[in-house]
Amino acid sequence: MRMWQMSEETISLSELKQLQLERLQSTLNRVYNNVEFYNKVFNKYNITPDDIKSLEDIKKLPFTTKQDLRDNYPYGMFAVPLKDIVRIHSSSGTTGKPTVVGYTKRDLETWKNLVARIMVAGGVSKEDIVHIAFTYGLFTGGFGLHYGAEHIGASVIPVSSGNTRRQIMIMQDYRSTVLICTPSYALHIAETLESMEISKNDLHLKYGLLGSEPWGEKIRNEIEAKLGIIATDNYGLSEIIGPGVSGECLYKNGLHINEDHFYVEVIDPDTGEVLPEGEKGELVITTLTKEAMPLIRYRTRDITRIYRDNCKCGRTFIKMEKPSGRTDDMIIVNGVNIFPSQVEEALKEIEHTTPHFMIYVKKKGALDMMEIHLEVSENLFFDEMKRQKEILDQITDRLFNYLGIKPKVKLVEPKSLERFEGKAKRVVDERHQ
Ligand SMILES: [Zn+2]
Repeated sequence: MRMWQMSEETISLSELKQLQLERLQSTLNRVYNNVEFYNKVFNKYNITPDDIKSLEDIKKLPFTTKQDLRDNYPYGMFAVPLKDIVRIHSSSGTTGKPTVVGYTKRDLETWKNLVARIMVAGGVSKEDIVHIAFTYGLFTGGFGLHYGAEHIGASVIPVSSGNTRRQIMIMQDYRSTVLICTPSYALHIAETLESMEISKNDLHLKYGLLGSEPWGEKIRNEIEAKLGIIATDNYGLSEIIGPGVSGECLYKNGLHINEDHFYVEVIDPDTGEVLPEGEKGELVITTLTKEAMPLIRYRTRDITRIYRDNCKCGRTFIKMEKPSGRTDDMIIVNGVNIFPSQVEEALKEIEHTTPHFMIYVKKKGALDMMEIHLEVSENLFFDEMKRQKEILDQITDRLFNYLGIKPKVKLVEPKSLERFEGKAKRVVDERHQ
């Protein structure tokens, strides 16, 4: 089995624990001295980095949440001065403001090596022509995988997203061998091929590295059969680094976590208690080498379990299962993270709307479709069509600005949506995983 960084990826457990502890202690010292947020938190809990003498001691430290990142928007969580930051990305926040992440030069070096590990684990080599159909932009997916693939020495085609027929022409003519996108987009490509009456044998694809949204074995089998590829899953989140946190090897039996750079725990999401290996709960990650924005015990909100096995590929890193859900109300629509609270925030200042809305997520072919039903005031609902159309356009534009995707919006009569006692149910997810 090929590996990108063999000595790291096959490290013994005792060496790994020692390395993790050294890196954890150095990270704690850096955040304590350089990040006001952590300095205050540690003082509040009456802890100094010297109190953490073993990996188990990490339990003494409080969690970091997405809300903490939001409270310190935009640069408050950075542990280095802005002049040392060479790249900025962001992800959707729970409300209007996004979460900002930064990278130093060394962070970018680390990042491309971690992505290269996952790509090599998924079958990619320097001989490959890598077709990246993730959106290039503030989202970490496109650039993250791009630099990893280049680092391996593969030929990279930065197609970005959209225009599926053109993507297929490029795949055919440029002889792409690796496809990188979300699982639902891979399936959409497969269906478009069928409608164009192009056989998978007219393409040259061998591997697919698919991620950014949950997907099951049924979808994997369908993608593999229709595109004639081996499809592996990989996982990451921009707060931690982006893609490169973990990925499957060709045995497709759990995602190897890059443990020398990330310390992982699984907790009970209600009590915060650390669960034994093998039990299902919320994944919590501590970065061990990040310079620009180290995070201590970051609550990912993803539900999974972690376990060690003797993987036939030879990698010794702990594995995680594909995440099976979330502990918050985030939904993933075509790989884009959406919080219902963002919709609420976007609609807040629009005239003639009420706070009552419902989000429907459905499948339209292989892709996801988001439809928002929004109650409007009586006078608008019975107003002339032209006026309604103006408001509808205004709402759709505003949602696009907040969410990064364009939902279908339907204005509905006042008091027509269901009312809830207590927490409102905002999402009806009609997709089947
Ligand atoms: Zn493996």
